[in-house]
Amino acid sequence: MSEFSLQVLGANSATPMYGRYPSSFVLKFDAQQFLIDCGEGSQMKMSEFHVKRSKIDHVFISHLHGDHIFGLPGFLNSYNLNGRQKSLALYGPTGIADFIEAVKNASTAYFNYELVIHELDGDQRLDLGILGGLQVTAFPLQHRILTYGYRFDEVSAGLNIRPEAIEAFNLTIEEMKLIKTGQSITRDQKAIPIESLTFPPTAPRSFAYCSDTMYDKRIIPYIDQVNLLYHEATYLHELVDKAHDRMHSTTLEAATIARSANVRHLLIGHYSSRYKVLDPLLDEAKTVFANTSLAEEGCIFQII
Ligand SMILES: [Zn+2]
Repeated sequence: MSEFSLQVLGANSATPMYGRYPSSFVLKFDAQQFLIDCGEGSQMKMSEFHVKRSKIDHVFISHLHGDHIFGLPGFLNSYNLNGRQKSLALYGPTGIADFIEAVKNASTAYFNYELVIHELDGDQRLDLGILGGLQVTAFPLQHRILTYGYRFDEVSAGLNIRPEAIEAFNLTIEEMKLIKTGQSITRDQKAIPIESLTFPPTAPRSFAYCSDTMYDKRIIPYIDQVNLLYHEATYLHELVDKAHDRMHSTTLEAATIARSANVRHLLIGHYSSRYKVLDPLLDEAKTVFANTSLAEEGCIFQII
């Protein structure tokens, strides 16, 4: 099975505090890596955690607040120094192209490689296609500016061929392609039962990213039954009024969304800098959704 995991580079809210960094995550699938948000300090964390930047071909930005994009200009610029030549795809809300252009103009920066910017707009779910082996969709979140969540679904690879069958029946490449689609083959003019050649495909895995957003039940269909959900939980629930004012979520709200969407595992983050210790946020979320974890810098979560 392909590796499918999420590494946390930063999961604090606006201010870097207590060793915690603003939002940034690396999603790994097979040989691909996807960068999701790029807050200040992302590059330092990539170096610390030995993230191979050359494997990143797609960057997804949730919104244009600084704690999600202020690491982006430096990240893009470093590829020049690394001699990047292949193109890089950047997805984000409308306005992201102007942001990049303004930074380039002000600092006379240029890119040696092609940066392909895909600006997203509107209040509907957007199908971004199959990127690096994952089906990617963007969906609207409720925040103070145009903001998108992202969902990444593994594309089913069809039936799995039994390793022992390859040798036993001396299968050719062409035969294996047919078998993966469910067609049988013959030996000595007899059809080999497909069950002897394959085992059923594993269920496709999925991850959804929701930061920043206020509590909004309308996102539930977009994140339905994902294996891993990252949902912001900026505050303990005692600050629910502040959360609503700032269009953020509380621990109990994130956990309620996870429970309603039947997700398998909830990861909370985007912690307010008022919290030096995070255990109370985890404990409170677990009262509603037991399989909750804290996003903390360096942690890797397998998507299973
Ligand atoms: Zn924000």
